[in-house]
Amino acid sequence: MKSRYCLYACLLLISACGQETEVVVYDDKAIADESQKAHWLAYGRTHDERRFSPSDQINTGNVADLKVDWFLDLPQDVGLVSTPLVVDGTLYFTGTMNVIRAVDAVTGELLWKYDPQVAKEIQGKRKIGWKHNRGISFYEGKLFAATWDGRLFALDATTGKELWTVRTFDIDQALYITGAPKAFKGKVLIGNGGTENGPSRGWVAAYDAETGAEAWKFHIVPGNPADGFENAAMEMAARTWTGEWWKHGGGGNAWHGFTYDAELDVVYIGTGNGSPWNRKIRSPEGGDNLFLCSIVALDPDTGEYRWHYQTTPGETWDYNSNMDIVLADLQIGDAGEEPVKAILHAPKNGFFYVINRKNGKLISAEPYVETTWATRIDIETGRPVEVPGARYETDAAYVTPNPYGAHSWHSMSFNPHTGLAYIPAMHYATNFSDEGIDLETFQAVKFSGGIGVNPLPAKSPRDYPASLIAWDPVKQEAAWQIPQQSGPNGGTLTTAGNLVFQGRADGRFVALDARTGEELWSFNAGLGITAAPITYELNGRQYVSILVGWGGGAAGLGAKYASQEFSPSHLGWDYGKHMRRLLTFSLEGRAEMPALPPPYFPEPIEAPDFMIDPALAQQGATAFGACVACHGLDAKAAGMAPDLRASQIVLDGESFASVVRAGALVARGMPANPEITDAELDALRHYIRKEARE
Ligand code: CA
Repeated sequence: MKSRYCLYACLLLISACGQETEVVVYDDKAIADESQKAHWLAYGRTHDERRFSPSDQINTGNVADLKVDWFLDLPQDVGLVSTPLVVDGTLYFTGTMNVIRAVDAVTGELLWKYDPQVAKEIQGKRKIGWKHNRGISFYEGKLFAATWDGRLFALDATTGKELWTVRTFDIDQALYITGAPKAFKGKVLIGNGGTENGPSRGWVAAYDAETGAEAWKFHIVPGNPADGFENAAMEMAARTWTGEWWKHGGGGNAWHGFTYDAELDVVYIGTGNGSPWNRKIRSPEGGDNLFLCSIVALDPDTGEYRWHYQTTPGETWDYNSNMDIVLADLQIGDAGEEPVKAILHAPKNGFFYVINRKNGKLISAEPYVETTWATRIDIETGRPVEVPGARYETDAAYVTPNPYGAHSWHSMSFNPHTGLAYIPAMHYATNFSDEGIDLETFQAVKFSGGIGVNPLPAKSPRDYPASLIAWDPVKQEAAWQIPQQSGPNGGTLTTAGNLVFQGRADGRFVALDARTGEELWSFNAGLGITAAPITYELNGRQYVSILVGWGGGAAGLGAKYASQEFSPSHLGWDYGKHMRRLLTFSLEGRAEMPALPPPYFPEPIEAPDFMIDPALAQQGATAFGACVACHGLDAKAAGMAPDLRASQIVLDGESFASVVRAGALVARGMPANPEITDAELDALRHYIRKEARE
């Protein structure tokens, strides 16, 4: 049978039974094609990472009729944050614990499932408890994905059979991978996260797509000069550091934001913040600290440095630049002039950057949220004009955006028809201070981490924590903005039907008029949404798909660095009560989907016999810092893991030890902590019970 969707480099083969089979080879040309409507071939749909589809069957005139076409229940999953891919009528996605599934994109029928056995791999080893993954990559018949524990693997996209696996870092390193690899030119690029989990020196590496052999590696920050530099770029970068930064790793970890520019044949990486956060510790005499918080352009074949643009020189607020790197041709000058080959980038620091991707020169930058750390970006120098005191030099500083970022990994989309970028934005603030921290002796500890600063929640600069901003990158101003009463909200999709789709923290999946922001359709998914939607056309029908499974760092952390009034624990999304799902919509949809229970707020267990020791509870409060990412601030869970105030396991010392120390629930994402002592376990229990009673 001939494939209807064969558009590129088709090879006509005669199969054993004599039937004609077309093998479609989706190469870089295919992945860069903006005009096809049938597939979603890359993380951001195409190599340009715009998340724009030319499909207009669903449009502003009929989107009100959008209904569920099919759905898939995912009872074993928790946080679902990934963007699926669609290739030749098969939808692929990654779920909790890095399980990959292939389903029929028309019926939702499961075709195959691949489980990389993350729990088995980390058994007995200490790992930072993030069980999320943002996506997979496709190239010439293979799928590529990376695991939380640091493996990169390739699967046959047709069968789900594993083709190769490589370990990208030693399992004993305090690093993790939550991002999608990026495949291009026969290679697969991956980085890692871990800036906050101990002393860390970030890098990216590219592997051969056929064999998994390492092709090249690029370090993001320089190592100890005494050991020699890997390349001239590292030697240049070292001149922007002071002190003995290598003892702290330096950071820069690239955990998100990889784009391949098929037109200019360059790969761009977005880099992370410093390790530790506080520059006074990592680089005490100052300095820009290259290549932290930058976009770095690399040669796709060799990994050689081409250019960089640093968004936050000498950063000290967790303002990484790991956010989407979106490629667009912008008509910036007069109509007769050549459009500018631009990068659109909205990093954590709150400024929207338009960068010339031929040379890395800044074209323009304006704040898209309130920015108390800098007033503007100087176009001549490309550098921010900082507000005195923002670096908490002597006193605490009220800083916005906060460490969650004005925008994080929740995808931004760009619609070339409206000329607007759609940013899921956040409006949080934090008080930064390093009072009480010994800057001379501070040292982060592997796995326990340490950021060298005290970020304390502060009142939000607005009376809402999040918004959807439609940003005009040419005029550098908002065309419209929708305030949202909860966050973080999911990534965006935009289409030629003049629509913007977004899943929200409050469980609503909405479609807006891309030109005005008017809400035209809304669906109650019954659970907070963090993932970004996709669209594809098959058999003449346009589908819109989205994973529903509240998750991600900011979702779980609750109000750790932000105003308590906007804590997502108020939303009532529960770990065990709300079914995680893959939903697919169309105009002809008629699936009956059972509604989910209403928001649920667990009742803490009474347990009057448990005598709380205040001193032990105090010790436990500090130790609980390692648990909040999943179990929530003040032990109030926000849907990522069970609420421990309502847990029987905490009441029984032996059961508690078997879970926390021995890892009895590793398979469900609760890491083992083999080093934890009996006294520490006891302190944790007393702290949790204290929170339960309060
Ligand atoms: Ca960070």
